[in-house]
Amino acid sequence: MRKPLIAGNWKLHKTLSESRALATDLASCLRNFAAADVVVAPVYTALATVAEALAGTPVKLAAQNCYPEETGAFTGEVSPLLLKDAGCAYVIIGHSERRQLLEESDHFINRKLIKALETGLKPILCIGETLQERESDQMLEVLTAQIKGGLANLSATHMAEVVIAYEPVWAIGTGKTATDEQAQEAHSFIRGLLQGLFTPEVAAATRMLDGGSVKPNNIYGLMAMDDIDGALVGGASLKAEDFLRIARFES
Ligand code: PEP
Repeated sequence: MRKPLIAGNWKLHKTLSESRALATDLASCLRNFAAADVVVAPVYTALATVAEALAGTPVKLAAQNCYPEETGAFTGEVSPLLLKDAGCAYVIIGHSERRQLLEESDHFINRKLIKALETGLKPILCIGETLQERESDQMLEVLTAQIKGGLANLSATHMAEVVIAYEPVWAIGTGKTATDEQAQEAHSFIRGLLQGLFTPEVAAATRMLDGGSVKPNNIYGLMAMDDIDGALVGGASLKAEDFLRIARFES
């Protein structure tokens, strides 16, 4: 019932020509791919170029962030409206790097999520605990606060468009991975939260991605878990060969 989704977060990597080359490779290999939804998130400056390279293919475009206003005196920011105009279908919101480096709060993240939904973009809401939070038994509390804060004031109809990415901060870009069972335990807990906040139907229909050093060698095990519907991939999305293997769940 939940179609798998594999999203590549290119972070602050790749020039225009490098972005075009990677998108062109993915486009040619995934032209008729239907086993999973595939999404890539280049830097802002490469969005329109990548949109052009992906045109006519099922691969969708995402932005890595957005600002929760449409237009106005917000120097340096980019709104969901402009992201849509550039060809985006999705937007990553609340990535742990932004939470940590830019001190983004759950309230600010919630405002972005609502604006993205109002504009017709599908938000990928990132949540996850730090190592210190996990080791001091605060993990469930942290995930609860991020889910409740991030999804505040959302309706069940809104939730049909929302994707959740569980990414333990200690596994992002570190090569350390949560075991399949650790990941499943967190995903199952999050799905339980959705059930309480919304309805059992919403909880059962929401797509949840796993993230944090997902590679070709661990995607298969993760995808076998009941509550994991795909992956948000950083480092391994920068090489077409690795990302394609992940999209096809090939170890
Ligand atoms: C990410 O950027 O969301 C991520 C999970 O990165 P990596 O796959 O490199 O750990």
